[in-house]
This record gives sequence, structure tokens and C-alpha cells, in this order.
Amino acid sequence: MATPLTAKAMLKALTEEGVNVIEVGSWRTHNRGTRGTGWGPVNGVMIHHTVTSGTDASVRICRDGYAGLPGPLCHAVADKQGRMHLVGHGRANHAGDGDPDVLAAVIREDETLPAPRVATQDGNSRFYGLEAVNLGDGKDPWPAAQLEAIARWAAAICRAHGWNQYSVLAHAEWQRGKIDPRGPGKNASAMMRDLRARVGALLAAPAGGEKPKPPPKPTPPATGGGAHTVARGETLWSIAQRYGVTVAQLRSANRLSGDVIHPGQRLTIPVTTYTVRRGDTLWGIASKHRTTVAKLKAANKLSSDTIHPGRTLQIPR
Ligand SMILES: [Zn+2]
Repeated sequence: MATPLTAKAMLKALTEEGVNVIEVGSWRTHNRGTRGTGWGPVNGVMIHHTVTSGTDASVRICRDGYAGLPGPLCHAVADKQGRMHLVGHGRANHAGDGDPDVLAAVIREDETLPAPRVATQDGNSRFYGLEAVNLGDGKDPWPAAQLEAIARWAAAICRAHGWNQYSVLAHAEWQRGKIDPRGPGKNASAMMRDLRARVGALLAAPAGGEKPKPPPKPTPPATGGGAHTVARGETLWSIAQRYGVTVAQLRSANRLSGDVIHPGQRLTIPVTTYTVRRGDTLWGIASKHRTTVAKLKAANKLSSDTIHPGRTLQIPR
């Protein structure tokens, strides 16, 4: 599956991966056309640093290029705030010619790449390119938000193509003489070791990370007495309501003199409740719970022996 993504598919993949995307001008159709070997098949994603500072200036250069190197100079620009500026789609001037052995290793998704020796393989047709706004002087920091955005951008494309984290490479791993990406105390191999680990972790989870958990179900009605652990916000009154007992019964069963209870406190609930099923009789329920029909009728203020399925009865202890 090395057919390049359409612009629409790219946008969808990035959005689903949680990338904060900014679409710059006519990025969908901004490219170098069929120059060189054109665009595709694609085999990986390549990481660069801009050797510039400032978001606006960096994005502009990456989109427009400069004298001697027309833009786009990449597909996406990661700024230091973690936003991803899409500047081009299709062939872009970022990878240049590199080593065919490296390309073969990327296609195999080898965990280690051979050092580049020759520059005979057109890389601009084969790799999606990302420029991170960084001076690359080994001092300019890479903020956490920026690194996160880069990892998500790479993961989105790898996921869309069915690739793993070993389809992510550095410009330095492609061409001799290149050092990007470089960070404080970290050369390109150290930067890539971290990045590939992050991309691997992202790919191991559903796109965009773990889906948010559905809201907790409302507390089901109590199906039995026994014990209750006080939750934050509960009062003796609310607990009494829930179990169909009185506050006085709760106080008495728990030897409480006032109304003060604390989250985490265990309370004894002095009744059990029972939901009447089809075919149940008061006598049957009473004998099952070792009580009498008279006590059942009193606790539930029943004037006759008729009960209906679905009704909840208090079972006195
Ligand atoms: Zn580069």
C-alpha cells in the first residue's frame, strides 16, 4: 500500500490522530508536480528541522522555498506550540537524493538503518516530509507539545498506510552530511529512537489514543440492603431514600446520634429490598426471607395480599 494518500485522506488521518492541523493556502495542490521521478510510491516519513525560528517565517519559507530551492520544502511544519501547518501535498523538495540501501531498509521496516553512503535515489518521490521549527544548533529546545505533534503526524501517516514506527526516518539517516533533526544533547539517532518509540506506542492504541470512557452509568436502584459505603455528596437522607428506609432506622442500625457521615464510611442498611417477579406470592417472599406475611405487609403498607410484578418490597430484618 504505497499509493500516496489523497489530501482528503491525509487530513482525515491527521485529524483522527489528534493532530492540531492548520491548512495553509492551497496546500492540497501545492507541490513539485512530476519533476524527478514524480510522487510515489511512498515508503516512509522523514523528519527535518528548519534551521529557522519563528512560526510565521518558518511556515512561509517551507511553503514558498527560497532562491535556488522552490517550495514546498515539506508537507507539514510543526511549530513550537504543537500546531501542524500543512503547506503542500505531493512531491516536495525535502529529502533530496539518498541511499537506495536505506530506502530498501525502510521498506523492510528494519529496526536499524545502514549509514547512507551514496546519493543516487530520489527521496522526494518516496517520503512524506515534516519540518520542525528549530535552529538545530543543539541548544534550541523541542517543546513537549511540538514532539507530541510530530509523533502524532508520523503515526497518522504510518497508520493510514499500515506501516510501523520503522517507516519513520531522519533526514540525517538518508543523506550523508545532514544532521537533522537535532536537539539539546541529542543527535539525530537519539531523537529518532525517542520518536520511533512514541510512534510505536501511538500505533499500539486506537487513533487519537484511548477512546474516552463512556460516562458512568447512573447508580442502579438498590437491590439489597446489607452494607453501603458512603460516597462523596451523599447524606443520611439520600441513602435512606435509596434503600427505602427512614433516617431514624439508619441512625439506629448504625448507632449514629446525628446526621454526620463521611465519604468512605460503611453503613449498615437495616433492610433488604426485593423486586416482585411474575408468579411471586407474599407468602413465598416472606418464607424465602425468613419473615412473615404480616411483617411484610406492615413494612410496605400493604392493605391486601395482592402484589404486582416489578414492585419493590422492603424486607424488614
Ligand atoms: Zn532536512
